[in-house]
Amino acid sequence: MWNNCIQLHAEQSKGCTPRFSVANERKIGLAWQQSLHSVNCQFKSGMYKLYDEVPTGGCGKTPATTNVALQIVLQDSAISNTKVCYLLTSVNVPPPSRRGMQKTENKVASVSAQHTVDDLKQKRDKIREINSLRGQEHNAPISTSAQMSCITVHH
Ligand SMILES: [Zn+2]
Repeated sequence: MWNNCIQLHAEQSKGCTPRFSVANERKIGLAWQQSLHSVNCQFKSGMYKLYDEVPTGGCGKTPATTNVALQIVLQDSAISNTKVCYLLTSVNVPPPSRRGMQKTENKVASVSAQHTVDDLKQKRDKIREINSLRGQEHNAPISTSAQMSCITVHH
């Protein structure tokens, strides 16, 4: 943004020594868009997205990586969107809107669920292939081992 604005200002406002200031800003969840203006002349930039976007392949707004990353992390966390809002507010960071967080959470959960289903299908296909190579029926049981830790509370 800064490099672009300095270059555009030099082209459009010859002779002006710029003193940039934020002209406008828009919060999108945890991400921001900003525009700059020169205090010494009429130069004003367009809005710049100060974040990367997650390509969705669909139409509509493209989500910011920051907002999607937050929801991905929250899927594997014991805290909720509400707690994230409390946490951000307590450190003086404007929290995203609850509605926006819920919308992103739903999309992330949907994609995550589909990835899980696809992954399990790949595992089943692999087991069928291994059984076939062993000369067994495709749905023959296989031996597995697993480790598990549990916290048991006794009353
Ligand atoms: Zn200027």
